[in-house]
Amino acid sequence: MFFQNTPESVGKEGAWQEISDSLVTATGVGNKITHKRPLSGGSINSAFCVETEQGDSFFIKLHQENQLSMFEAEAEGLQELRKANAIRVPEPVCVGAGQGYAWIVTEYIAFGKANPQTQETFGHQFARMHRFTTKYFGWHRNNTIGSTPQINRWRDNWIEFYRQHRLGFQLKLAAENGFKGSLQSKGEHLMADLEKFFISYTPIPSLMHGDLWGGNQSVDDAGNPVIFDPAVYYGDREADLAMTGLFGGFSTTFYDAYHETWPLDAGYTVRKTLYNLYHILNHANLFGGGYAMQAESMLDQLLAEC
Ligand code: ADP
Repeated sequence: MFFQNTPESVGKEGAWQEISDSLVTATGVGNKITHKRPLSGGSINSAFCVETEQGDSFFIKLHQENQLSMFEAEAEGLQELRKANAIRVPEPVCVGAGQGYAWIVTEYIAFGKANPQTQETFGHQFARMHRFTTKYFGWHRNNTIGSTPQINRWRDNWIEFYRQHRLGFQLKLAAENGFKGSLQSKGEHLMADLEKFFISYTPIPSLMHGDLWGGNQSVDDAGNPVIFDPAVYYGDREADLAMTGLFGGFSTTFYDAYHETWPLDAGYTVRKTLYNLYHILNHANLFGGGYAMQAESMLDQLLAEC
């Protein structure tokens, strides 16, 4: 889902001029863009490393102009994660839109190699980030998970929040996308029984990255963990940890360190599937077929636990 028609292909005038101007306005110094280099690795947007006439580097992502609010939410999410002061997170610089494009500019972080301590540090830092809590579940604004809207109304009840704004939302979307029948009936059944997964466990509202798969983490040139591209909200930390296990990229050392800093409840093993169901449903909605089958087999597994 790359957005191919980038300012790279429409010429320097126009969009890049506006991006450059917005960077100068945001930084208040002569930061006109002089060089740009496309980066690979993103799943939604076109990404660039730019250099300015002052020799500073910045990271820029582009999408269509109507996606400005997605970048506004991302910038606020990065800022929120930085409040916890736990893991390195790029500092947002500005967002803007014009000439058919929306953009986000952040600090550019030169990625390096992991050292033998990186995964352990990351595990400790991730648990510390989750210690940054608030009173309610949700957030003050909606954002996106992939390119799907993610609703974050403040709620004092996590089960209600997860039922309505996570599973319910994705299941409704799945029905609109043609995934009806047994996926829906099993989904309904699970949502009705959700309390059963929380009989002896009471989640607290932790600061969450919200989309921490292996592709949204890296290491800076000093070997420190870095996280980016978040879908921030305050929720059960187990959901954040569960997602790290979905597509790989996190070692046993990472999980051991996490447990050491903040041990997990025994029921996590079952809830892990419950939480990853949200992301697999989202993948079914974004990418189709095979993920819907995976979601249904996760539902079977969960319903057998009820
Ligand atoms: P998308 O929203 O399209 O998924 P990402 O935010 O994941 O894009 O960024 C795309 C790629 O750019 C990442 O995989 C990573 O390699 C790199 N990247 C992300 N943020 C930064 C940054 N602040 N500095 C340097 N590189 C970054």
